[in-house]
Amino acid sequence: MAFIFMQDSDGWGTYRLVGDEMYLVLRGEDGGLGLQVTPKPPNQTKRNDTGKPWPARLVRRRARELQRGSNSDKSQLLLVASQEFGGADSWALIGKPASFSASGLRCDTGLHVLHGHVEIGFEGLRCFFSDEAVAEVVDFDGDHGAVCPRCKSGIERGQKCVACVHCRISYHQSEDRSCYGYGPTCVTCGVKTSLGGDPEWSPEDD
Ligand SMILES: [Zn+2]
Ligand SMILES: [Zn+2]
Repeated sequence: MAFIFMQDSDGWGTYRLVGDEMYLVLRGEDGGLGLQVTPKPPNQTKRNDTGKPWPARLVRRRARELQRGSNSDKSQLLLVASQEFGGADSWALIGKPASFSASGLRCDTGLHVLHGHVEIGFEGLRCFFSDEAVAEVVDFDGDHGAVCPRCKSGIERGQKCVACVHCRISYHQSEDRSCYGYGPTCVTCGVKTSLGGDPEWSPEDD
């Protein structure tokens, strides 16, 4: 799972990155400018438009287009999901060369692959990226013969389950069998079980 943290009047707000591309844009607000994450800026067509993660060559081509400066994308950054940069949920940030910084370093190429916790600086503002794994209920599609570590019985394909964010072992998690949420920690690795959907990390921890 990947998130963008943006500061608003109540503190750090969390925005979950979904789909294959998102935009980080400037927005006017009372008392100044802020950053906003949006699936698609107004009056723009989607760049990838397949609904699937971007192939690495498309990410690089897009970065080159921005380097040539043939368009008017100065006031936005593009976040693209691209598995080819490593990991099932990996994202890259593309913008005009030197228009943004990542973890305090100016990005002269205009392409930065996001891993872990990254502070993004843009137009004098900042936000944070995090690719922290968050527990989610999904249909089990793992190996036949998988056994739930809580109740010690099998997990069938298609059954509702949750994988531990740390050791990735799967537990049943449905209304009549809430094995994942039954205990405060994972039986196997001891990491806290939480189904709130919110990341544990926050920019304040840095
Ligand atoms: Zn179980
Ligand atoms: Zn675990």
